[in-house]
Amino acid sequence: MMKSAKLALIFCVQLVITLSFLAQSPEYPKEELLGQITPSSHPAFSLVPEEFSSRAGIYLRSEVLVAFEKLREAALDEGIELVILSGTRTFSHQRSIWERKWERPRYMGWDEFDKAVDILTYSSMPGTSRHHWGTDIDFNSLENSYFESAEGYEVYEFLDRCASEFGFKQVYTSKESTSGHKARTGYNEEKWHWSYLPTSEPMLRAYNELITTQDLTDFKGAQETDSIKVIAKYVNGIRTKD
Ligand SMILES: [Zn+2]
Repeated sequence: MMKSAKLALIFCVQLVITLSFLAQSPEYPKEELLGQITPSSHPAFSLVPEEFSSRAGIYLRSEVLVAFEKLREAALDEGIELVILSGTRTFSHQRSIWERKWERPRYMGWDEFDKAVDILTYSSMPGTSRHHWGTDIDFNSLENSYFESAEGYEVYEFLDRCASEFGFKQVYTSKESTSGHKARTGYNEEKWHWSYLPTSEPMLRAYNELITTQDLTDFKGAQETDSIKVIAKYVNGIRTKD
């Protein structure tokens, strides 16, 4: 074999080995992707200082907290205060939110599929929330109307203009497509929810490689995960293009 052909072959073999190693995503085990962790005792997570948040006991992945602190400083320079309302949420916390909604009297007599779809307007099924990952933050208010008020508009305008410099992106945008891209599926717009992409993008890739609906069990309505296509439509129903 020609020397250059041999070298090319070696290069290709090495490339395949490297790519298959990367594709395994060994750094994010299933438990972390599904929120089956305890952030307070997990080495990858840090406690959010109380002055940054609306309540005590919020955790984020450490690199997300570092990036948030820089974003917060930049906001303060413009006289804008970012308050963290929610960070990491465990599977059991998400299950308690989900099942509280599941038991609402207004759903009496509803078909389980319709009930799950209705709750999914704003709340994730346990095991499918980006908040499990410690990469996503809810800021200031859980109402889109706040971000249209005088104060909220300034906050949103700042985030829209500057958050990407620090790695953050609004993943649940309007479902209308303004730029000719295919419209997004899944949750309604959430102007408060921002994701730290340097970590959440590889975590989403790992999720798609490792998690199937078979892993989404142990909560009311779990039998609807396939009929709803919860992974395709909701976990992956995010803004990927600008
Ligand atoms: Zn959120």
